[in-house]
Amino acid sequence: MADHTLEDALREATDTVRVEVGPRALERVESVFRECFGDSPAIVVADAVTFDVAGRTVDEQMRAAGRSVLEPYVFPAQPHAALENVELLRTALSRTEAIAVAVGSGTINDLVKRASHELDRPYLVVATAASMDGYTAFGAPITVDGFKKSLSCPAPRALVADLDVLAAAPPAMAASGYGDLLGKLTAGADWMIADALGIEAIDRRVWPFLQEPFRRALGRPASLAAGDPGAFAGLAEGLVISGLTIQMYASSRPGSGAEHLFSHLWEMEGLGVHESPPLSHGIKVGLGSVAAAALYEQLLALDLDAIDIDARVAAWPGEAEVEARVRELFPNPALVGTAVEQTLAKYVDGPALAERLRLLVQAWPTLRSELAAQLLPAAQFQQMLRDAGAPTHPGEVGLSMAQLQDTYTRAQMIRSRYTVLDLAVETGTLDACVDRLFAPDGFWGAQA
Ligand SMILES: [Zn+2]
Repeated sequence: MADHTLEDALREATDTVRVEVGPRALERVESVFRECFGDSPAIVVADAVTFDVAGRTVDEQMRAAGRSVLEPYVFPAQPHAALENVELLRTALSRTEAIAVAVGSGTINDLVKRASHELDRPYLVVATAASMDGYTAFGAPITVDGFKKSLSCPAPRALVADLDVLAAAPPAMAASGYGDLLGKLTAGADWMIADALGIEAIDRRVWPFLQEPFRRALGRPASLAAGDPGAFAGLAEGLVISGLTIQMYASSRPGSGAEHLFSHLWEMEGLGVHESPPLSHGIKVGLGSVAAAALYEQLLALDLDAIDIDARVAAWPGEAEVEARVRELFPNPALVGTAVEQTLAKYVDGPALAERLRLLVQAWPTLRSELAAQLLPAAQFQQMLRDAGAPTHPGEVGLSMAQLQDTYTRAQMIRSRYTVLDLAVETGTLDACVDRLFAPDGFWGAQA
């Protein structure tokens, strides 16, 4: 019997009490709502596309059951997960006492999650695609003044995911969900580093859920691309469990590391936002995961336990120098302020760096083999994504090799969370690793 199942995760979760995943689950939205919220009035929140896909059905079904249901709140097609939209929705919801039923995927869920929280109300989400793990996650990635931020807010009280609806969504959506889930392997590796260096301890209650359940869910990419219902169920379960681990930990750390920084930077700089549909979160995370795995391969080949600590401390830049470098690499005025703030928030001075590197020297022999066991070769990451029908090459998403190369340096600067990128910066190995990756015979250079 599999352990650390969805039911186990739900027992540990703090916000979500009910998850209904299965064929024809749409028919059970009203009964799940009643279980969670009794006779409360409801309001469906969707966008023009998701209202047609499932929102209208949910709205009609709840009305037919005799529930008080307000006029649905329908955003125009493809709204952005931006603060302006949270404010619009919060204002509309504040005129009622109704519990929101979010019908959609990433953006709709994030908008409803944050707006409901600001009104101190729970909500229910009906998933329309297996495209990311945010349904059951704590927090919402929202763009505030052009910068992608992870805003705190509880996860939904309940989730309904109809496997027939998920399987009927465009194939790129499942490929996106697969990419988001693949990123959990590098995110987990980043947490192992932060734990070993005394920066952020691994939560041993959460950790087992990040292992076997994800490997199980990632095991059949080709079946997923072929539309196999069993593979869809596995992906949906993996994504729901991932969200629940973020909920248990009340931070995205269990599911978001360097691969998400790549994705968020690309998104903030507009990569694919004007495509129709816009380039999805999980597609960028998938590519970011390949990039992070390739960096790991380089680092794991190094004897970091032989590092010259005194030389590293002597070469270590001061805060003013670090800030100047961020300003040089972020000419965009919308991004530079927060990038400086986030980078300096994790800056350590020379003595603290020396202490950290001493920890690394001790930990490296064990950590290195544990990281190797956690990860897979970057080429295998790429193959799994390809089998799932996801882009695996920067050119497929409109990114040049030079832009990808720059991202290795710049992604480290957009969030204070400690990842493999920080390890590479602090050991002074980032530039050499990246040069090797983009050399003519390097992992990326050979694909140019
Ligand atoms: Zn994600």
